[in-house]
Amino acid sequence: MVDTHCHLNFADHFPDVSSTLARARENLVDRVIVVGCDTESSRIAVALADRHEAVYACVGWHPTNAAKYTSAELAAIEELARHPKSVAIGEIGLDYHWDYSTPDEQRLATTDHLALAAELDMPVVFHCREAYKDLLDWIERLDARRCAMVLHCFGGTTEDAARGVALGCHFGVDGPITYKNADDLRATIATIPIDRLLLETDAPYLTPHPYRGKPNEPAMIPLINSRLAELFAVTPAQMAAQTTLNAETVFWVK
Ligand SMILES: [Zn+2]
Repeated sequence: MVDTHCHLNFADHFPDVSSTLARARENLVDRVIVVGCDTESSRIAVALADRHEAVYACVGWHPTNAAKYTSAELAAIEELARHPKSVAIGEIGLDYHWDYSTPDEQRLATTDHLALAAELDMPVVFHCREAYKDLLDWIERLDARRCAMVLHCFGGTTEDAARGVALGCHFGVDGPITYKNADDLRATIATIPIDRLLLETDAPYLTPHPYRGKPNEPAMIPLINSRLAELFAVTPAQMAAQTTLNAETVFWVK
């Protein structure tokens, strides 16, 4: 299986990446995509990809960091994106939950990154929180729609999901799908075609049930996969094969 979104670049949380990857492999997770949130964390993601066969990188500026972003940063992101193991641009997008940056600042950072993704023909990974309508309206008007698009850690409504499906998006599914009180989320995820689903932990955050309260890591992916398999009435092995194929299709992590 592939953990398509984790933050092993957060060194405080993952001081020993080799053992984190070894535990992942013991749990049948043989590839991970490490996602940047600014230039420095993107640089670490690429360094990890350089050092570890199982690691691929996704580089870019997270919307909550957009207040510190200037277009001068894009040259550094472009250089990192051209690394052979960089597979996507992100995480970019809109976050109206936190007010560390304004919507205008988030739009500037995301617009720059979308142009870069289009130029390099790379998929984009969107972070979206309490902003699905604005983000989907934006994507609908975009030319960059020829890039593969991922709605990471999807948490929108069933209507948002339908719009994302129509736009060709893939959907990241994380630990919350395992939570007892997540019936609404499960009902929405169940409406998404199985070939659009991607497994992700967002580690160190969003630890799946029954380990909530402990740090998350890629080794937890089977818990998400099993719950997703149950939801789609397939075996865990079938869901693992399908989501791995989906990840390979979007990100070329072969
Ligand atoms: Zn993330």
